Amino acid sequence: MHDGVSTLAPDTASPGAGHVPAPGRVASAPAGEHYSTDVIIMGAGPCGLFQVFELGLLDIKAHLVDILDRPGGQCTELYPEKPIYDIPAWPIISGQELTDRLMEQIAPFNPVFHLGEMGTGLARQPDGKWMLTTDHGTTITAPVIIIAAGGGSFQPKKPPIPGIEAYEGDVVTGEGVFYAVRKRDAFRGKRVLIAGGGDSALDWTLNLQPIARSVGLVHRRDDFRAAPHSVAQMRQLVADGAMNLHIAQIKGLAGTAPRLEGVVIDGPNGEEILPCDALLAFYGLTMKLGPVAEFGLNLHENLIPVDTEKFETSIPGIFAVGDINYYPGKLKLILSGFHEAALAAQAVHRYVHPDRKLRFQYTTSSTDLQKKLGVK
Ligand SMILES: Cc1cc2nc3c(=O)[nH]c(=O)nc-3n(C[C@H](O)[C@H](O)[C@H](O)COP(=O)(O)OP(=O)(O)OC[C@H]3O[C@@H](n4cnc5c(N)ncnc54)[C@H](O)[C@@H]3O)c2cc1C
Repeated sequence: MHDGVSTLAPDTASPGAGHVPAPGRVASAPAGEHYSTDVIIMGAGPCGLFQVFELGLLDIKAHLVDILDRPGGQCTELYPEKPIYDIPAWPIISGQELTDRLMEQIAPFNPVFHLGEMGTGLARQPDGKWMLTTDHGTTITAPVIIIAAGGGSFQPKKPPIPGIEAYEGDVVTGEGVFYAVRKRDAFRGKRVLIAGGGDSALDWTLNLQPIARSVGLVHRRDDFRAAPHSVAQMRQLVADGAMNLHIAQIKGLAGTAPRLEGVVIDGPNGEEILPCDALLAFYGLTMKLGPVAEFGLNLHENLIPVDTEKFETSIPGIFAVGDINYYPGKLKLILSGFHEAALAAQAVHRYVHPDRKLRFQYTTSSTDLQKKLGVK
C-alpha cells in the first residue's frame, strides 16, 4: 500500500494524448495498486487542483484521479492558449498558464496524481471510508471524496467503423486501435497509422516518427487545424521521404479482430489497404457524465446538488465542487469553484481531523500556514 508519496516530478519521457508536452506535466503514481489518503479528489481540473491547496492549509493530504494524462481539465484540454479575463488579480491568463500556476501553488502539499485513469466505482467500506476504483484497477481509500469532475469525463470520438471496438489495442503490445497514447514506447518499431488533422494527430505524428518503424498520417482533406509549425514539420518529413501523408477517408479495418493488419482507405486512387500494426485515431473528445451517474447520488440535470455551506452532497463524506455541482444561483466559473473549494475544505477537516479544533488564519499573518507553504 502507498500513502502520500510525492509524484510532482516533471515527466518529459512521454508526450500527452493532446498536445506537445507542456512544462508542468506530472508523473503519475503506479496504476493497479492500493493507496490510502485523507481525501480523494476525482478530477484534476482547476477546481480539483485548487482544492488541494485549501486542504493542504488544513493539513489534509489528497490524491487526484483524472482520466486525462495531464492536469488542468477544460483549461488545458479545450483552451490551453485562450486568454481568460476573469480570474481575480490576473487581468489576462491562458488556460495552460492558469494550470501551471495552480500546480506551482499546490506543490508544497505534494499531491499524488493518478492520471490517465477514470474513477469508475465508489463504495463505502465497513470502516466508513470510501473506496474509489479506477478503470486501471487502482483503489484509493479515504474518509472523504470530493468530486471535481467538471462537465464529466472526456471520452474519445471514435471513427465511424462498425466493430472497431473489437480491434482496440492494449498499451503493452502497441498493436490495434488507440485513441490516446498512454505509453509512447509501446509504438517503438511498429508500423503506425495516425488519423486526424488536429494538434493531437500532428503532435503524435512528429513524436512517434523517430521511434516507429513507419508512420503514416491519414486526413480527409489537405488542410489541418493543428498548429502551423507542426504542419510544416510534418510536410518536411513527407518531402524527405521519412513518412507518408494520405488524403483519404478511412473506410474499414483489415485483419481478424483483435489482430489489426491494416486500414482500408478511400482516396484519389480508390480503395486501398495500408498495412499497419497500430491505428491511432484522434477525432476529438466529447464530455460525458460517465461513471459519476452510477455513484448513487441524487442528480439534478446531470449535476450533483450540494448545500452552499459545505458543498457536501446528500451523502455524508461525499462533496462536489466546480462545474459538476448544482445549487440555486450556481455560475459555472472557475472563481466559483475556488470559493467552493475553500468552504468544502473547512467541512472536510471535521471528517479527517475530528479531534482537532479548526482555527481561522490568514496566510499573510500565520507563521504556521507560511511554514506549510515553505515560505518561512
Ligand atoms: C472554451 C471555454 C472557455 C471558457 N472560458 C472561461 C472563462 O473565461 N472564465 C471562467 O471562469 N470559466 C471559463 N470556462 C469554464 C471553465 O473552464 C470551467 O468552469 C472549469 O474548467 C471548471 O473546472 P472543474 O475543475 O470544475 O472541471 P473541469 O475543468 O471540467 O475538469 C474536470 C476534470 O474531471 C475529470 N473527470 C471527470 N470524470 C472523471 C472520472 N470519472 N474519473 C476521472 N476523472 C474524471 C475530467 O477528465 C476533467 O479533467 C470556459 C470553458 C470553455 C470550454
